[in-house]
Amino acid sequence: MASPFLDKVRITVRSGNGGNGVVAFHREKYVAAGGPDGGDGGRGGSVILQADDNMSTLMDFRYKRKYVAPNGIDGQSSRKSGKDGADLVIRVPLGTVVRDAESGEIMKDLSDRQPFVLCRGGRGGWGNMHFATPTRQVPRFSKAGLPGESHDVILELKLLADVGLVGFPNVGKSTLLSVVTRAQPRIADYPFTTLSPNLGVVYVDEGRSFVLADIPGIIEGASKGAGLGHDFLRHIDRCRLLVHVVDVSGSEGRDPAEDFDAINAELRQYSGELASRPQIVVANKADILTDPENLTKLRARAEAQGYPFFVLSAAAHQGTRELVNKISEMLSVLPPVKVFEADYVPKAPDTDLSGPMEIRRTADGHTWMVEGPQLQRLMGNINFSDYESRMFFDKALRESGLFTRLEEMGIEDGDTVSMNGFEFEYQR
Ligand code: GDP
Ligand code: MG
Repeated sequence: MASPFLDKVRITVRSGNGGNGVVAFHREKYVAAGGPDGGDGGRGGSVILQADDNMSTLMDFRYKRKYVAPNGIDGQSSRKSGKDGADLVIRVPLGTVVRDAESGEIMKDLSDRQPFVLCRGGRGGWGNMHFATPTRQVPRFSKAGLPGESHDVILELKLLADVGLVGFPNVGKSTLLSVVTRAQPRIADYPFTTLSPNLGVVYVDEGRSFVLADIPGIIEGASKGAGLGHDFLRHIDRCRLLVHVVDVSGSEGRDPAEDFDAINAELRQYSGELASRPQIVVANKADILTDPENLTKLRARAEAQGYPFFVLSAAAHQGTRELVNKISEMLSVLPPVKVFEADYVPKAPDTDLSGPMEIRRTADGHTWMVEGPQLQRLMGNINFSDYESRMFFDKALRESGLFTRLEEMGIEDGDTVSMNGFEFEYQR
């Protein structure tokens, strides 16, 4: 179902690849062969999500679904590192929940202004300047940069509001919001006026305030695929309290008590939890009430369910003060706005070496080329300048049975083992 505004969208993001390290040698007039001086590759740009108070929909994502951060630049000679790829910052409305598209698990609730790194840029590869060792003065190898990550995620807007206004279109929700806050939503005599949610801050008195959200009207039967409907209910998922606005005037031949029941039924169908959220019932448009019986019936219906009941004329600013005070009083004892916990666990770096490893012996008989996709991945996660990391790598190789295989094939101490361009001297 197409929404008139976007509050849920699937996007693909990709961080930049790391630049490659480079093989280069220092050249000086009187030095026959200078040292290795190939610089490192730059880091790939990361993809970062940042909540922005000035956005209220995911509309910006309607025509752009793919976001790619730039790659890092390859290293250069003279120990020059390549430039890092710039981070790509994607702005989203405050209250956007990020899910892994595959599992639906929550990765992050952007309900604060902390930037969230969704995809980390690939690390740059090392230039050969790092590989000058006593045994290998002229290293001819460097490391390739690591690939960036790619991720499909679903962005879902769940407004951060204490109180949500619910009710049929045209009952006066936007009017109420405009009367009790400085927000200026569109108000009109026809349904569908509210196409995107509006937020306003209600100042109760010194130091007491709350955020009120006006969401587009629910249409009866929305759950059966008609009208706006349930899509909008996710905006009030976090609300601590619902204010249910009913047009009590009975104009347009409506039955207020039936409207009240219909909305509650929609809430229940969306989520039992939402239906059981504390509610205040507002009988609006009391100024043009035609049949007092309508008011009596609605009041009885609301009170039977234990909901506080207020008679209002939002347009005439009548009864709004009492309503605001009651809301504030109820909020003072309700739990805070819900923040969703992340339940998505990123996959641990792959250290599995059970896959195939191909061993090739070069013509001179003393160099052994070892290759394998899993090996490459593991090496990408190893920091070879760090002793602990090297030991970890050594252990992983040992456990994979690689050394046993090499020995069976006749490797000798002092032979060179070359792995994906990284070389070392074999010692038993
Ligand atoms: P929403 O669709 O629920 O947001 O309803 P609106 O706030 O846009 O109001 C719909 C219409 O009802 C507008 O023409 C308002 O001026 C009118 N209205 C809102 N509140 C009252 C009220 O208390 N009394 C009267 N007579 N009209 C109202
Ligand atoms: Mg409205």
